[in-house]
Amino acid sequence: MQSIQIYGAGMSGTFLFYLLKNEGFDVKIKDIRKTPDCRCAWGTMYKEAKELYKMIGLDLDDYILSKPKEIIANSIEFKNKYVVIFDRKRLLEDLWKDLKFGEINANLFVDATGAARKYLPLIANDKIYPTIQYLEKVEDSKDENIYIYLRKTGYAWAFPLGGDYWHIGAGDIDENRALELINKLREYYDFRTKEKVCECKAKVRLLPPSKCKPFVYNNIVGVGEAIGCVSGLGEGNAPSLKCATILFECIKNNRINEYENIVLKEFEWIEREHEFVEAVQNNERVKALRLLPRVVLFESKRSVEKSLSNFRSLLKLLGI
Ligand SMILES: Cc1cc2nc3c(=O)[nH]c(=O)nc-3n(C[C@H](O)[C@H](O)[C@H](O)COP(=O)(O)OP(=O)(O)OC[C@H]3O[C@@H](n4cnc5c(N)ncnc54)[C@H](O)[C@@H]3O)c2cc1C
Repeated sequence: MQSIQIYGAGMSGTFLFYLLKNEGFDVKIKDIRKTPDCRCAWGTMYKEAKELYKMIGLDLDDYILSKPKEIIANSIEFKNKYVVIFDRKRLLEDLWKDLKFGEINANLFVDATGAARKYLPLIANDKIYPTIQYLEKVEDSKDENIYIYLRKTGYAWAFPLGGDYWHIGAGDIDENRALELINKLREYYDFRTKEKVCECKAKVRLLPPSKCKPFVYNNIVGVGEAIGCVSGLGEGNAPSLKCATILFECIKNNRINEYENIVLKEFEWIEREHEFVEAVQNNERVKALRLLPRVVLFESKRSVEKSLSNFRSLLKLLGI
């Protein structure tokens, strides 16, 4: 049985640890943080995450904070199907309680360090966006929807956490622009801060897996955001869990050589979404409109109700 060292105890590393431990592998994990990362990465796809967490005996329902009815982007309303807001910090804290932290003399090392990608070779032309986020109580109760303020290069979000508490944040090509987006969102949807609980900064990798090779380098293998398992809009919670199950199966069945191809096939939809986002950012109208129906069809199976006309209106607002 292989000994495995995981670096990074975020979404993918923590999940992978349990999958491996439950299978009898000798596994340890190490994180640079003393407590799990908080950030406002608290939206996820209910059906996918629920099924995946079942594999390690965890019930996602115990961590659901809200099930927003609508996702409102620049005032265009999308009916929400499966996006939920979960208490990511508490979930990770609970999982951390039974992790075996430390380092072992391993024969396989896993880079689960997310945007840091600390152990795999650097990516040429990496695309890392800065983000800023706040946890706060707001004045005046608001409907529990997800509110988005979008422009071509980035977007700001407000996620309901229940009881007038919200996560408000943004990501864009630089911090000033992210901050500007947050201010625009506050103004646009009238979010006024009553009590600021905390604020932090983070980073997100916005490159698809095909541009994050190699996934395997000597005896190091990457998982999750380290190898680009994040959608064009920055959704990486459920994808990083899915990626961990693929790695787990490859390790268990001695098929690491097939890992890269399986990941690329599984996340074809991420490639497509990045292509779509890039077309929008580059004002490639024909390409964006050509890619749109498949993006909408796919997302209608996992996030919002199918609504091609709403997406078209949104593109029009963005000048596409
Ligand atoms: C502000 C923000 C909001 C987001 N919101 C959402 C959202 O709402 N929904 C969604 O689906 N996705 C969201 N994402 C993306 C999502 O959080 C990530 O894609 C996902 O967490 C990736 O999981 P991971 O396990 O690959 O990496 P992470 O969860 O980022 O975990 C990486 C871990 O590695 C540790 N680490 C870093 N360097 C080292 C090192 N040198 N040695 C050891 N450990 C190290 C870190 O401390 C961290 O614990 C958001 C991202 C950001 C930045």
